[in-house]
Amino acid sequence: MRRDVSSEIINKLDIGKVSKLLDIPEYRITGALQRKTLQFVPSPRELLRFDKPLSNVEGGTAIFIEPFDIVRGFPKIPRTLVLYPGIRNHFSSCESVTVEEKMNGYNARVALIGDSLAGMTRGGFMCPYTTEKAEKLVGKDFFLDHPDLMLCGEMVGPDSPYVPKSFYDIESLDFFVFDIREKVTGKPMPVMERRALVEEYGLKSVRLFGEYCVDEAHIEVTNIIKGFGSTLHEGVVIKDPQMQLLPVKYTSSMSNCADLNYAFEFYNDYGRDFFFPRVCREAFQSVEWDEDEESRRKRCQRLGESILLPMIKTIKKRQRGERITETVQIRVREPKTIKEFEEHLRLLGVDAVFEKPELIGDEYLVKIRKIFKSTNDKTDSILRGELWS
Ligand code: ATP
Ligand code: MG
Repeated sequence: MRRDVSSEIINKLDIGKVSKLLDIPEYRITGALQRKTLQFVPSPRELLRFDKPLSNVEGGTAIFIEPFDIVRGFPKIPRTLVLYPGIRNHFSSCESVTVEEKMNGYNARVALIGDSLAGMTRGGFMCPYTTEKAEKLVGKDFFLDHPDLMLCGEMVGPDSPYVPKSFYDIESLDFFVFDIREKVTGKPMPVMERRALVEEYGLKSVRLFGEYCVDEAHIEVTNIIKGFGSTLHEGVVIKDPQMQLLPVKYTSSMSNCADLNYAFEFYNDYGRDFFFPRVCREAFQSVEWDEDEESRRKRCQRLGESILLPMIKTIKKRQRGERITETVQIRVREPKTIKEFEEHLRLLGVDAVFEKPELIGDEYLVKIRKIFKSTNDKTDSILRGELWS
């Protein structure tokens, strides 16, 4: 007979305490457990994760069972499609805004749970790889002085199993802090106070472009984005210096097209979700920047190529009988992290093949082939002459 995990967990968990700390009535927590929007995750440490937001609690919030602790989810950052009047409207109650670089890697929260670190990914999973990296890149010093805080940042570099990027000139993987929040309430620290604290502990922050008067920020951000030129820098995040308002994000056309290029290689897995919002962003940016015919034509060409070329490559590859896969890599000290990470990807439902670890110095490099089944199958069926339905 199948074990009823949720009733076992309910017995171990002080629901009254969770209800108080998260400010949600007890019946909503037990309801979420029954509906599995509050899901049990068995490894690498037992926790419950909010799959979706529940009243004021962000999706990706995790409740650790033993020892009991809560790590709040990272809030969704809204996007503006026009810098003016988007920034002015959203930040109308501020005098100035702080602009930081939006780095393109994966979101990680690092917190101290009991006496060891936990590296959490966006969905509220504790990721064994992120945890091993956090031990090395972040360490415990910060948390021994500030056990109630969590560091939120971007894990960036080529040795990333989720979003591998190599254009930043990072050798393996590095962690850039963009937020410090209270672990249980999610309350953020003002921007400059946070940056000073990060520096005090010898950690890295995302790049700061400056603090600008709200009425002029759209001009400054336009210059920053145009200044990225043809590099793949993703964009910026515009913030209330006190962090009382939600930040706003804005991205470059180059990174937009790079995302499409990636998504359309695996078109039946990602294409649809990526397509529509990115086409809209390109159109609004072109209008706001009042482009001449030549720039507009270049933009159209860039957008079209970033959709069709990867897809054509995929179809040809499949026609030659090759599988549609993406190879990522991880670099670890502990062989046990490889096993745990394999289990972690299985929990996430990712179809992946791990190659034999290669010992380089004191670390193991492991190549992981992710298989995009939906794109493989769809391409096969169309090439066999089946009809698109
Ligand atoms: P969401 O829209 O839910 O925030 P998403 O997956 O669509 O998530 P992105 O478009 O990548 O996310 O934008 C938000 C993410 O940007 C954040 O979750 C964070 O990981 C990342 N990020 C990178 N640099 C910064 C920064 N300087 N400040 C805040 N977030 C940043
Ligand atoms: Mg991102």
